[in-house]
Amino acid sequence: MWVISQGWGAAIEWVSLHVVGPCLAVFGLGNAFGNPAEVAEAVIITLLQLVMISLVFRPLESLFPAERWENRRLTTIDRNYTLLMLLGLFPLFSYLVLTPVAHLLGGESATLAAVNDGPTWGLTHWVPWFEHHPYVAFAVYYVVYDLAYYWMHRAQHAIPWWWALHSMHHSQRQMSCWSNDRTAYLDGVLQSFVLASVALVMGVEPAQFAWLVLLSELVQNFSHANVRLRIGQRLGKVLVGPAFHRLHHMVRDPDRPTFHNCNFGQVLSIWDRVFGTARYGEPVHPTGVSDPIVDADNGKGLISLQWYVLKRFWAAFRSPAGWRPGDVHFGGPGFAPIADDADTVPAGLPASPPVNSSARPPLTPSSTRPANSAVAGADSDAATR
Ligand SMILES: [Zn+2]
Ligand SMILES: [Zn+2]
Repeated sequence: MWVISQGWGAAIEWVSLHVVGPCLAVFGLGNAFGNPAEVAEAVIITLLQLVMISLVFRPLESLFPAERWENRRLTTIDRNYTLLMLLGLFPLFSYLVLTPVAHLLGGESATLAAVNDGPTWGLTHWVPWFEHHPYVAFAVYYVVYDLAYYWMHRAQHAIPWWWALHSMHHSQRQMSCWSNDRTAYLDGVLQSFVLASVALVMGVEPAQFAWLVLLSELVQNFSHANVRLRIGQRLGKVLVGPAFHRLHHMVRDPDRPTFHNCNFGQVLSIWDRVFGTARYGEPVHPTGVSDPIVDADNGKGLISLQWYVLKRFWAAFRSPAGWRPGDVHFGGPGFAPIADDADTVPAGLPASPPVNSSARPPLTPSSTRPANSAVAGADSDAATR
């Protein structure tokens, strides 16, 4: 860990001195974007994520696909969302919101050499022992952060107005290594608010928060990838892998209408095991949603999709049914939510996953293989609980 920390510090310093500083000087921006070291760290994190997605996860999708697609037409919008998020929106959000808030609250600069007088609240304030064991403290932050994410994610599915937003992430029928950043922007703001609040209460410093986000994002990029790779039974009981998260994205099964409410974990799968929502040992299911209103997301462009999602969010937010926990579909007037019957697929929804519809890109038989298929049965991260 010491070597990683030293290497990370050296990389930030090098990029800051040889790339960020000269670039800012050329454009006459000086310190307009804050400390060059903070900018350098953001640049490195962005590049690392893009390199991992495009040079590791994407080739793995071609080599070991979970679903075989004739083309990747529907993945294009997710790739564009990822590029827009990493190269535009996230740096802008960090610059305009995160950094000023962190500095306002007395957080440490991302410069590793910065002097810290010690926090006045948070984990290291409550238990000073952690001050001398920063890696253990980081592990504790990570576990709490991940637990907070688990319950937030449960809420995104249970509260209909939040599902109106989060369902956009689920509507993708070709889930790939680019799908993690397929998010309604209002949902992204809500998520950032919840997770940053948890981090601030714990006293996580900005540089540590960047690491929390980077590690979480990389695991999530991999867990969304269309790969038939197992991470092993033992590891699968602790960590979220591609098969585990793919089940979370499964199209609703008409024979098991509540079966899709599973595997909410972000990085650690232990929360699903502890709270009884873990599922393993299933074959590859097609991904997407069975609600035609949400499924229509797939035909929309970058901007119109955000607008369409906001319309169904607003319809849910102003309706009493939008506040009653439970599965809904948005077939009411003006996209108003209607509660689903707990035991049956609601009238008007497709009786089975629309894998052969003209709108859905064709899938090979491997992706629709029955549950008892030998190959499909081998697709879980941990075959048993
Ligand atoms: Zn979800
Ligand atoms: Zn997902």
